[in-house]
Amino acid sequence: MIIRKSAAEIEGMARAGELVAETLQVVADTLEPGVSMLELDRVADEYIAAHGGSPTSKGYKGFPAALCLSPNAMVVHGIPTSYRAQEGDLISVDLGVTLNGLIADSAVTFPVGDIDPAAQRLLDVCQEALAAGIEQARAGNHLSDISHAVQVVVEEAGFSVIRSLVGHGVGRSYHEDPQIPNYGPAGRGPVLQTGMTLAIEPMITAGGPDVYVHEDDWSISSVDASLAAHFEHTVAVTAEGPRILTRAGAALLR
Ligand code: MG
Repeated sequence: MIIRKSAAEIEGMARAGELVAETLQVVADTLEPGVSMLELDRVADEYIAAHGGSPTSKGYKGFPAALCLSPNAMVVHGIPTSYRAQEGDLISVDLGVTLNGLIADSAVTFPVGDIDPAAQRLLDVCQEALAAGIEQARAGNHLSDISHAVQVVVEEAGFSVIRSLVGHGVGRSYHEDPQIPNYGPAGRGPVLQTGMTLAIEPMITAGGPDVYVHEDDWSISSVDASLAAHFEHTVAVTAEGPRILTRAGAALLR
């Protein structure tokens, strides 16, 4: 069942989303060669607490940290470690914040220092795919219009959509219905209605689409060790069109 949110709930989610975006900016400002994943997580955790929120992932099904931090070929769900960022790395940062009982969720893949042009292209395409998906988050469209729009952008660029990982509804819970695949034909699935709040999140690789779960039972990486990228926004379907609730994060999108 897809939970439609009231106008007041969407405003509350937007406040959570603002804190998500601010925290991601703090992470971006902290991330440089030599900084460890544990340090990034601590900085984010403290910033969120200082602003009255709590990191949604911490304790979620036993996840131990505020941030999911996934370097290079790791796609999502990386547990922060003592690994130190190196020049040329891509670090995917995924963050949910709960504020006054409402949740917003966003992710950005950050470059560390100067990166390879091919890596930059992967980031650019993933952001274009997210934008194309968000554009379809309109009342009257079908859910899979989002999926299809993402897939077209990614595959026309020669990259792969990871099929086993999906976006999701969000708001009162971290993961609500519906699941939102990043591939598929348009015109399928539920008709989008105002008040739906969706975490749209292309997860892509520069190589093949297959991934595996590490022994920690969380971290997920590409099987062929190709670079991965992940961008995510929480979006409300409104009468005026798609509203990005993690908007300040848009400033991070280049
Ligand atoms: Mg997320």
